[in-house]
Amino acid sequence: MNRKRVVIAGLGDTGVLTAIRLSRHTDVTGISVKPALVSGQELGVRLSRPADWARDYWLPFDRLRRLDSVRIVQATLTGVDLAARTVFGRRADGAPTAEEYDALVISSGVANGFWRQPTLQSAAEIGAGLRAAHERLAGAGSIIVVGGGAAAVSSAANMATTWPDKRIDLYFPGERALLAYHPRIWRRIQNRLIDLGVGLHPGHRAEVPVGFAGDEITGEPVRWSTGQPPASAEAVLWAVGRVQPNTDWLPPELLDQHGFVRVTPELRVPDHRGVFAVGDVAATDPLRSSARNRGDALVAHNIRAEFAGRRLRSYRAPDRRWGSLLGIQPEGLEVFLPTGHAFRLPSWSVERVVMPGFVRWGMYRGVRENNPLQ
Ligand SMILES: Cc1cc2nc3c(=O)[nH]c(=O)nc-3n(C[C@H](O)[C@H](O)[C@H](O)COP(=O)(O)OP(=O)(O)OC[C@H]3O[C@@H](n4cnc5c(N)ncnc54)[C@H](O)[C@@H]3O)c2cc1C
Repeated sequence: MNRKRVVIAGLGDTGVLTAIRLSRHTDVTGISVKPALVSGQELGVRLSRPADWARDYWLPFDRLRRLDSVRIVQATLTGVDLAARTVFGRRADGAPTAEEYDALVISSGVANGFWRQPTLQSAAEIGAGLRAAHERLAGAGSIIVVGGGAAAVSSAANMATTWPDKRIDLYFPGERALLAYHPRIWRRIQNRLIDLGVGLHPGHRAEVPVGFAGDEITGEPVRWSTGQPPASAEAVLWAVGRVQPNTDWLPPELLDQHGFVRVTPELRVPDHRGVFAVGDVAATDPLRSSARNRGDALVAHNIRAEFAGRRLRSYRAPDRRWGSLLGIQPEGLEVFLPTGHAFRLPSWSVERVVMPGFVRWGMYRGVRENNPLQ
């Protein structure tokens, strides 16, 4: 019997995990703009300690054992013919590609700031981008971070830890930051930021300069629509959460009014058998939380169930964000729960148990060692 063909459109955090789960059971083709998983996670560690970040979050596909049997096409997605069950793309040399599928997984994520862009890149270009952002910030005596979400807070905290002599200020519009998290989490992180000497500036809503997409580190004064005098620093990091779904390659009837892919509770695209969406691109719930809540496992299960004529399972979203906020720190890894409680895994357990055991074996099913940034 012919093996079923699954095309995974976008190999980021969820696309890679979905491919890993399906690679033993189906013929998987992944379409990716990068030759690696370049995760959107842990911006603060990425900017301040890029080599540490790269070890865990920049994983060239040939390091992931369970992707050995997955055919990977490096191309930009350009379209899909749902009736003909074919996805189209364009390679770096301009040559078109067409991949037929029995099931399609849409996992093209969102664009956000300079650190998450769906651009075709070689390994050398990825490395150069990581180093350039780090060096720009390392060379600045003072840094403003604009934004009140996890990316902004994590960036301020990690930069203050790595560079204790720099002046670092965090400006956010609300009375508190981390509004999508339990209030207890902000109280805890706020104390940490104060201990680290980060200047906290609630009630500041930045005027984003006209024509500026927030996708580079700037050096001009920041103006506030909330009336305060402009603020200046040698470097300004914009983490204002202007996420854009990477869906310009999809027909509009698949999308909601904000451009995200509409899905049923089974993460299936309505009225299109065999088409699923998962991760930040999928309009599952207001927080679009399927990436961090094992949406990859659910989609992989449902694809196999649909092929076998079995019942599909449903996704249940938590109503608050959770997870790591600051990334791996010298004292360990703190994980925040939706209830606002936190637990800390000591660094020996992160180094010897969590990363090699749970992450590299349990989640990725085997990773060949080799840090691309060293
Ligand atoms: C196991 C796990 C744990 C997590 N833990 C946390 C946590 O603790 N705290 C937290 O805040 N978040 C966490 N997250 C979530 C994370 O912040 C994001 O939600 C996640 O990175 C989104 O993954 P994604 O695959 O949807 O998008 P992405 O990782 O952005 O992947 C999308 C991919 O598609 C590519 N693409 C886009 N458009 C095109 C195109 N036209 N052609 C070709 N390719 C394209 C992109 O370049 C990218 O490679 C976790 C996620 C996972 C999987």
